Amino acid sequence: MAFVSTRGAERVSAPEAIVRGIAPDGGLYAPETLPRWTREDFDALSQKDYPARAALILSQLLDGFTENELLAMTKGAYARFSVPEVAPVRPLSDSRAVLELFHGPTMAFKDMALQMLPRLLTASARKQGETREIAILTATSGDTGKAALEGFQDVEGTSVTVFYPLGGVSAVQEKQMVTSRGSNVHVTAVRGNFDDAQTGVKKLFADPDFIGKMNALGKTLSSANSINLGRLAPQVAYYLSSCADLLASKTIDWETGVNICVPTGNFGNILAAWYAKRMGAPIRKLICASNRNDVLTDFIRTGVYNKRRPFHKTISPSMDILISSNLERFLLELADGDAEQVRQWMESLSETGEYHIGPDKLARMRETFFGGCADDEKTKAAIGRVWQEEKYLMDPHTAVAEAVASNYRTETGDQTPILIVSTASPYKFAADVADAIGVPVSGDAFDAAQELEAATGVPAPKQVAELKSLPVLHSRVCEKDRMGEAVLAAFRED
Ligand SMILES: *Cc1c(COP(=O)(O)O)cnc(C)c1O
Repeated sequence: MAFVSTRGAERVSAPEAIVRGIAPDGGLYAPETLPRWTREDFDALSQKDYPARAALILSQLLDGFTENELLAMTKGAYARFSVPEVAPVRPLSDSRAVLELFHGPTMAFKDMALQMLPRLLTASARKQGETREIAILTATSGDTGKAALEGFQDVEGTSVTVFYPLGGVSAVQEKQMVTSRGSNVHVTAVRGNFDDAQTGVKKLFADPDFIGKMNALGKTLSSANSINLGRLAPQVAYYLSSCADLLASKTIDWETGVNICVPTGNFGNILAAWYAKRMGAPIRKLICASNRNDVLTDFIRTGVYNKRRPFHKTISPSMDILISSNLERFLLELADGDAEQVRQWMESLSETGEYHIGPDKLARMRETFFGGCADDEKTKAAIGRVWQEEKYLMDPHTAVAEAVASNYRTETGDQTPILIVSTASPYKFAADVADAIGVPVSGDAFDAAQELEAATGVPAPKQVAELKSLPVLHSRVCEKDRMGEAVLAAFRED
């Protein structure tokens, strides 16, 4: 299958799209066509284990890879998950279920893709004849950094450098990053905020002097961020997989199908659900759940994307985003493949801060999408309610989705079974979760997890207990205009 840029006519193969990350015209690579699944395909899928499911699905999505080659990758990638199902579906009452995507090494859903990306990227580079080491540079506001460090740790032919804003991530997130092991990983704190770190990385990608110095060291630059096709494709797999499970357990039937509610930031996760629907999965509505940063809620309700609004810090920080970059891939479909139209919308966004899709396209988007948001107070109420009623513990991101899903039912009366996507372990945000269910915590962020476990009896992932005592291995700090020097210095010290 070929991939096209959302802003131009260029067509490339999957390995090429994965190596490049972003298209030269600034667009994202989107699939030109998608395979079409039948009911029988889902029945057959439910007989396989997760690595086999993912390999089959990826072999249909990505040209240039055989199913066997992909199976070797998925087996390796998902071996580090703590449950055999990898992405289990847990039933709740009232025709609701939760798709748990947080059983990977960093306890957030990004592991589902970032354990695969290094494997896809190195294989793609080989297929493209690239022999240099791939140096991943990434700025993080929290979860992506650790997931990238874990994914690329000791992967031959790669290195990974993560920049995070000094004082701008949670204590647990910082500890997770600065204790990272691996002979090819570097972590540096930047004196500045997340935007400074992000801008600094973008500048390095466009700095010929820096690129030349890296090339002289035998390295070529690449990025691990969520617009890479190598991150998107593995996410489609768990949607088809969960539909197969829901059908096999008769939790849903083929005719009625299921609504899916996704806690959304960059629109990457929910976009994968959209592709699964287009492939024939019995998915009806896609409910896009936001926190107080409700730019997508407004977009889905009005057809106007307007990023000029205050940025709010919330208890679901991975969704604190005003520019949802993956939305661009959906826009290409809404524009019936008209890349020029997408280019104009994106130009308008960067020049005026907004774009309008017009009433017809809005109506078409709303046939599938519903947008809703929940502030911190509603999020905490949802954590408390679900704990009271179901003895099920949700993290704040998942709880945003639960709150919005519940609103959706009240607002529309639609009682179709609903799958709530859970993107993080409650133990990653233990202090806020404990507060929401009324468990007093006395110690620091690390102790909160133990106290939450003691109070609820819900087992904490073993990474949590280990974290507090792990040795700090990375303590480099740099100024925001010296990030390139920090990268080069780290390589010289290796
Ligand atoms: C990244 C992240 C999200 C948002 O996912 P997008 O693909 O950016 O929409 C939601 N929850 C958690 C815990 C995350 O880490």
